[in-house]
Amino acid sequence: MSVKTHHAELVHAIEAHNYRYYVLDDPSVSDAEFDGLMRELRALEDAYSELVTEDSPTRRVGGQARASVTKVRRPHRMMSLDNAYSAGEMFEFHKRVMSGLREGDVAKFVVEPKLDGASIEVIFENGKLTQATTRGDGMTGEDITMNVRTIRGIPSHIRHEKRITLRGEVLIYRKDLDALNAERTAAGLEAFANPRNAAAGTMRMLDPREVAARPLRAIFYQVVEGPEMHATQSETLRWLAELGLPTHRREAVEPWEDVMKVITAMDQARVSYPFETDGAVVKVDDYGQQGVLGTTSKFPKWAIAFKFQAERAVTTVRDIVVQVGRTGALTPVAIMDPVQLAGTTVTRATLHNADQIRELDVHVGDRVRVQKAGEIIPQVMGVEERARAEGSPHFQMPKTCPECGTPVVKRLREEGKIELGEGATTRCPNRLCPAQVRGRILYYASRAAMAIDRLGDSLVEKLVDKGLVHDVADLYDLDAKQIAALERMGDKSAENVIASIAWSRERTLDRLLCGLGIPQIGQVAAKQLAEEAGTLETVFAWREEEVREKVSGIRGFGPKMVESVVEFLKNEDERNLAQKLIARGVGRPQPHEVVAAEGPLVGKSFCVTGVLTRKREDVHASLRAAGATIHDSVKKGTSYLVAGDKTGKTKLDQAKKYGVTVLDEVEMDILIGN
Ligand code: AMP
Ligand code: ZN
Repeated sequence: MSVKTHHAELVHAIEAHNYRYYVLDDPSVSDAEFDGLMRELRALEDAYSELVTEDSPTRRVGGQARASVTKVRRPHRMMSLDNAYSAGEMFEFHKRVMSGLREGDVAKFVVEPKLDGASIEVIFENGKLTQATTRGDGMTGEDITMNVRTIRGIPSHIRHEKRITLRGEVLIYRKDLDALNAERTAAGLEAFANPRNAAAGTMRMLDPREVAARPLRAIFYQVVEGPEMHATQSETLRWLAELGLPTHRREAVEPWEDVMKVITAMDQARVSYPFETDGAVVKVDDYGQQGVLGTTSKFPKWAIAFKFQAERAVTTVRDIVVQVGRTGALTPVAIMDPVQLAGTTVTRATLHNADQIRELDVHVGDRVRVQKAGEIIPQVMGVEERARAEGSPHFQMPKTCPECGTPVVKRLREEGKIELGEGATTRCPNRLCPAQVRGRILYYASRAAMAIDRLGDSLVEKLVDKGLVHDVADLYDLDAKQIAALERMGDKSAENVIASIAWSRERTLDRLLCGLGIPQIGQVAAKQLAEEAGTLETVFAWREEEVREKVSGIRGFGPKMVESVVEFLKNEDERNLAQKLIARGVGRPQPHEVVAAEGPLVGKSFCVTGVLTRKREDVHASLRAAGATIHDSVKKGTSYLVAGDKTGKTKLDQAKKYGVTVLDEVEMDILIGN
């Protein structure tokens, strides 16, 4: 086989795997197998540079950073959507549509989820992605071609030669945003307020390598240039899917009552969607009818966005207080009259930062809209009604830390790196600030880290207040008497606290590293780092070059993460803390995940899929402990498929094809011997 053919085959295989993973959500190879193909391709391209093309999968890690922003003017305006908030407003919309059409015309409608991300316009020519732009002001957007090329769900080739212009939304799945935010919080960065901010902020970043590190998806919902071959929106959506483009497939609906039924069904189903949906977009299906209806200066008359309710509420702001976090960041928080929001009563909502308050123009006394998106804490979205006392002052960020009185420092986002939803951050630079000490201890004790269950908010507050602990290592010097002496703490409870702290010595290095709160390093990264290092002594014994060399070799570790680890390991305070922890016998070496040599399942291989009652990794661990090996996909030779809720049809079909026995969770437990 010629090198060229081999290259083409590799590219083809990788693209096919990307398609299965990002578009179908049904990978057929393990991450390790995929990485193997990528490595092979990279090696080949290193040896034969003439094979490298703009659209090679290797380029998806991101090319050169843009020096500046390039604006692109487009021929068709990218419009907004008209909104409706009630069935009555939807009825009005339907009436307007029908009166705009000819007597006797039947209108069908397509109901699509309103994707909550950042809009993009993308041009394909000769089957290749040649340009991508942001919405901007509608006519003029920013060129973000290099960024969009890193999105793995967008094929780099489509089987369509003619030029087409597509509109779509860049978004982040909820689970991916949770993970990203966990990493960011661990990194001492502000969490993204919602998927839209995360997607929009990421799209505008200047360095495609950073974009490549973010888990973005795209979904296309419109063809603006080149739709001549189709007569309707539903046909177009089907065609986009056939081209291998990520899209939502929707059938046209009529009569109107059914449209409303579909909307209601979508409202009920959306909690299970992988992405955030804040409404349903209803579009007239027929392009001819769309043309007849036309547009206003702002939006098409043939479409409307029906906004779902429930996750928003309106209440009154009683106070704005400032909270100091683990990393010293000052966050203004609105204290509000209690209100029901997505099933819980809330009284506090974040205002993010001073810029955000100024932008929203929130004052004490105002009625505000609050919103909760996914797992994220509620946030103030806007002022509903200005009800402030006359002459009420604008909120001012304090000049000194409200906890320790140290003058605060302001950090402006570097030019060009401003991420939407984030403003300048204000922080308390005093490492010994009681709020930071409390935050660090609570973070250390949290479930994801050392899991010291008995160490709650109020106890930590007392311990820090009384000067009994200044850092996490001091926890191990406490005795039950000291704790019992604190208010409302009996002997028995005190002993339990001490036992729970003592137990945490047995946690493995990954949890310890996570608990130390290295900026940029969350749970996943901490585990990788732990596997590389083995013990805390080793991590802190590395010389700087060694750190760089080892850490930059870890999969998924970008330059920022590497720098962060280097800085952290150099920091005197952190080094002293590590010595204190080592002296107190905290942290167990990171075990290498090995398959047990004995056990009821030696020689058997498992693939686990769907939703189970336990975490997937825990299931894997108990299977391995019983001697089984784990496959990420069902293949020839797999012994069992453990199928939880929502198992994909493909997996079941494959199991049938290869004669693999399908088990439920209980049956699996019986095999393990539980
Ligand atoms: P708005 O910004 O609220 O006026 O809404 C218009 C925006 O909704 C568009 O620019 C798209 O980015 C976005 N959008 C999300 N989902 C869809 C969809 N299914 N069809 C059309 N636009 C959508
Ligand atoms: Zn402070």
